[in-house]
Amino acid sequence: MVDVLQVAVLAGDGIGPEVVPVAMVAAEKALAAQGIRVQWEMLPFGRSAIDSHGESMPTSTLDALDGFEMMVVGPHDSASYPEPHRSAAPPGAVLRKHFGLYANLRPAQAIPHIPATAPDIDLLIVRENSEGLYADRNMAVGAGEFMPTPDVALSVGVVTRQASERIAERAFEAARTRRGHVTVVHKANVLRLTTGLFRDVCFEVAQRYPEVRVDQQHVDAMAALLVRRPGDFDVLVTENLFGDILSDLAAELSGSLGLASSINCSDTRVMAQAVHGAAPDIAGRGLANPLAMISSVASALDWAATRRADPRLAAAAASLRAGVAATVAAGVMTPDLGGIATTSEFGDRLYSVL
Ligand code: ATP
Repeated sequence: MVDVLQVAVLAGDGIGPEVVPVAMVAAEKALAAQGIRVQWEMLPFGRSAIDSHGESMPTSTLDALDGFEMMVVGPHDSASYPEPHRSAAPPGAVLRKHFGLYANLRPAQAIPHIPATAPDIDLLIVRENSEGLYADRNMAVGAGEFMPTPDVALSVGVVTRQASERIAERAFEAARTRRGHVTVVHKANVLRLTTGLFRDVCFEVAQRYPEVRVDQQHVDAMAALLVRRPGDFDVLVTENLFGDILSDLAAELSGSLGLASSINCSDTRVMAQAVHGAAPDIAGRGLANPLAMISSVASALDWAATRRADPRLAAAAASLRAGVAATVAAGVMTPDLGGIATTSEFGDRLYSVL
């Protein structure tokens, strides 16, 4: 049990410095109601860190982050960085790799009063985040893509028993606290060895969770089924690329990609980061929707509640979600959702119900 929660904050670029503070104040209030105080540590990151430290992800920031279990990270707009920073590894990827954040958890749930193609969707996509076909992270040295000649491009896909096992464990643990159903998503009819290994390891892990129902889908069929009957699925566990694509589809079905929340985590560390980018087109104008950032922080609090066996953290997360739902139900929404509220007006209304 903690009475002070230490959280590192990397506000990021574009709308990051607008949405991150709203999520911080909201979390502070929800946690205070549970008797928990938050100590925030703001660390340099992104475009402003290039100016102040000469790097978008300063070594001093990485060193400082070492001491934190929880971090809240805003979006980065690396495409706008001057060279050589633009061509360097994106700061989000640096964080994932440096801290071994092997699981990307992306919930997709419709919020009443926000139009959704699939109002009954209530999914958690558990995406393996450290290997697969992602060339920036699946090799110890070098990249997983290369060109032996200018007209031939090759890509290496990596699936290991160890990474498949730990992601499957996350999925089955999550299913236990949800509706008790895991769907293993793969393409073992074609990628027999790689996604076949992934599928087999997931089914081995399933034997340790007899109370959880397990089934499987090929990724192409899964995409169709998510559109046809999304309400039938609870937790999907899948490899990196499939998870990336399916989670965008699920987010869009639940309302909009702009609402999508996410955490990247290991067994000892969690990073809350909304799925959306820095949105430079609307930055600094009070138009940004903080909802995805707030929901990401709520998911990080749920992760911490499990790790620390502290139900107060889960209660704070639930209160954040209920507060967002109540704010939206009262018609207070930012322009991307058809409303007229500014970022801070949304925040003020939310704080008043926490
Ligand atoms: P990236 O490659 O970093 O994801 P992107 O340009 O593909 O960046 P976003 O920065 O997410 O994607 O922006 C896509 C569109 O969604 C833009 O029009 C942006 O204004 C809008 N958008 C993104 N996030 C939000 C938000 N939180 N609130 C309102 N609009 C948003």
